[in-house]
Amino acid sequence: MIVLVINAGSSSVKFTCFDLKGAPQVLAGGLIERIGIEGTAMKYTNAKGDVVKGEVPVKDAQEAVRLIAQRLVDPQVGVLKALGEVKAIGHRVVHGGESITDPVLIDAKVKATIRDCFSIAPLHNPPNLTGIEACEAVFPGVPNVGVFDTAFHSTMPPSSYLYALPYDLYTEHKIRRYGFHGTSHAFVSRKAAEILGRKPADCKVIVCHLGNGGSVSAVSGGKCLDTSMGLTPLEGLIMGTRCGDIDPAIVWNVMKIKKLDLDGIDAFLNKKSGLLGMGGVNSSDLRDIEAGAQSGNQQCVQAMEAYAYRVKKYIGAYLATLGGADAVAFTAGVGENSASMRALILKGLDGIGLKLDLAKNQERSDQARFVSTADSPIKIAVIPTDEEREIATQTLAVVNRGR
Ligand code: ADP
Repeated sequence: MIVLVINAGSSSVKFTCFDLKGAPQVLAGGLIERIGIEGTAMKYTNAKGDVVKGEVPVKDAQEAVRLIAQRLVDPQVGVLKALGEVKAIGHRVVHGGESITDPVLIDAKVKATIRDCFSIAPLHNPPNLTGIEACEAVFPGVPNVGVFDTAFHSTMPPSSYLYALPYDLYTEHKIRRYGFHGTSHAFVSRKAAEILGRKPADCKVIVCHLGNGGSVSAVSGGKCLDTSMGLTPLEGLIMGTRCGDIDPAIVWNVMKIKKLDLDGIDAFLNKKSGLLGMGGVNSSDLRDIEAGAQSGNQQCVQAMEAYAYRVKKYIGAYLATLGGADAVAFTAGVGENSASMRALILKGLDGIGLKLDLAKNQERSDQARFVSTADSPIKIAVIPTDEEREIATQTLAVVNRGR
């Protein structure tokens, strides 16, 4: 039961090949990056530990998918006898607008919806669609399934997703909160229920997905009630290079100060802000900001404190949204690995039921686990996310039910 997962970006294609016969197993994976620009490189690894890497001549997504296919059946490092073994291909698609609320089999209508969202997800949806079309060409007859970042958040009520703007912007132009990282929020909230020993239907969970991008969600009974990212991934938390919540008036003030046009301010807020802009050590990586803070760099200390405070505010807000919670779960690069950031976020929250066990918080593990004290009214969990595995599992479910 082979499922290939494809994550096609503007200049890269990431892939993971799963065998889903029993518990999902990764057979091979890797990425091709710098597609269409100088120095295109591929990295391919398989479960036996073979690693192939180096420069490859690849000019577009279709050539990239063709190369991935070749590697998968390569006599030396391949993991399949023939491409016909691939039962389905699951695609990470960022924006599905309002109409796509679940993973779906890709047909002309779904592709039209992905295209309709180009204007609100200009960096992600066009390459996502290119990746789908490349797979249709290279794997003819194999079903393609779209797993959308926005889908899990489609259960938000209007009070969460409406902005206080003239209503026609919503009805005519679909300007509203959509939310992203949905595959991760879905997986982690379900896993939190599992380790709590409860059904997702009986749990309230706040998921803090803190990676290079970051978002928090409030999940009740397995359904998302609110999330911090908005129309685009720019809203909400302080991220690696994104500013998150700011006064909208800053936009035109900065445009004037820095003499930026629309594309300029877009790039400024998405790529030059966040930890990169605040920390002053020319890095968006929290590890570098932490190292700066430890060596006494006050700008790094402030950046870390502001980052933590923003997450803390969302946890407080979502405790109100949910009317209390059973667990707060941390995931993704920062959430899973940075004990010091988790401690900074949770500092002073004992009084509202979040008691961090400082020793457990320091322990490293790749397993989902609690890091709260035994008597903490709200459990604190660290749950490694696995978006690829979740996409593979959902892809198989869609193919098995035929829609
Ligand atoms: P993406 O959003 O690109 O999928 P990840 O979830 O992989 O990102 O998170 C990447 C980020 O996680 C890095 O930029 C880095 O800031 C952070 N990170 C990873 N490991 C650690 C660590 N040990 N300590 C602190 N931060 C870490």
